[in-house]
Amino acid sequence: MKWMLREIDEVNCTRCGDTNDRSDLDRLLWCKDCVSSVGSLAKSWGWIIGLVIAIALGLWIWIVVQPSNMLIGGWAGIVLAAMYVSARVTREVLYGVIRMKNSSQIQAVSSKEESY
Ligand SMILES: [Zn+2]
Repeated sequence: MKWMLREIDEVNCTRCGDTNDRSDLDRLLWCKDCVSSVGSLAKSWGWIIGLVIAIALGLWIWIVVQPSNMLIGGWAGIVLAAMYVSARVTREVLYGVIRMKNSSQIQAVSSKEESY
């Protein structure tokens, strides 16, 4: 009976296929390594997108708004805030999209197998 319990407790990660303890996997059956790797990927992409948006916004303010030296600090604050917010939003969206894409792939594969 002991191996039966082990069999139930150990589940393959749906992303990398590594065998993990069931308690180490989340609801999409991803192991901690996969969750953290996607998390850090989404985080670094979030900062890249945030930086691009901040540069674009900064250029727009510089060229179109042409702030006076008095107000430049306030505009710099707005640019930094925009960078922070867009980095956060990008991170959340990207993380959600990667996770969703992965789960739909699994569903597509399993339904394909059923039709044969
Ligand atoms: Zn994994």
